[in-house]
Amino acid sequence: MNPAFSICVYCGSRSGERPEFAESARAVGHWIGERHGQLVYGGGRTGLMGTVAEATREAGGRVVGIIPQALVDKEVANQACDELLIVDTMHERKALMSKRAGAFLALPGGIGTFEELFEIWTWRQLGYHDKPIGILNVAGYYDGLLTFMAHSVSDGLMSPWQMELVRSADAHGPLLEALVEESRRQPGGDRLADIV
Ligand code: AMP
Repeated sequence: MNPAFSICVYCGSRSGERPEFAESARAVGHWIGERHGQLVYGGGRTGLMGTVAEATREAGGRVVGIIPQALVDKEVANQACDELLIVDTMHERKALMSKRAGAFLALPGGIGTFEELFEIWTWRQLGYHDKPIGILNVAGYYDGLLTFMAHSVSDGLMSPWQMELVRSADAHGPLLEALVEESRRQPGGDRLADIV
C-alpha cells in the first residue's frame, strides 16, 4: 500500500541536552506513523534520527533511510528501516532524500541538519522544487537562527519572500498538517506517487 504522504525529516545524530528534543522527535514520528505516512531521513540509528525513525515504525508508518556507504561502514545505519538505500556520496543522498519526499521538516540538530535545511531551502528559492519546508522550533532551539534570518532580510541580503518559503512553529501538529496539506496541493498533486 502506498503511504498517505512522504515527509523528509532532518534532525540531530545526537539527542542533545534537553528532553524536549527527543520528546518532539518521538511525537513527530508518531504523528507520521498514525496517519500511515512515510518518513524519509538520513538512515542513522543514533540520536534524534534514531528516535524519529523508531517512533514512526512503532506507530505503523513506513521508514526510508538513505545513507552513504561511508556511514554504513561506521555502523551507524539503522537496519530496522523498511527501506535502507545505500548511496555513494552525501550529494546523492540529499538528492534522493529530496526526490522521495513531498515536504521537509527540520527538528533540532547540528551542522548536518543546518546544511540539509539550507540546501533544500536554496533549491526551493531557485525553483528546483516547490515542496514545503518547515522548522520545528522545539523549546526555542531555533530562535537565534530565526532572528538572524530576519536580520538578513532587514539588512537587504535576503528578500521577505525567501524567508516566507519556510514555515516555523513551536508545536508539531499544526506544522505537520500544513506541510502535508501543502505537499498535496502542488501542481500535478503529490508527485511522489510517481517515484515511491
Ligand atoms: P547533525 O545535525 O550534525 O547531527 O547531522 C544530522 C544530519 O546529517 C542528519 O539529518 C543526517 O542526514 C546527516 N548525518 C550526520 N551524521 C549522521 C550519522 N551518524 N548517521 C546518519 N546520518 C547522519
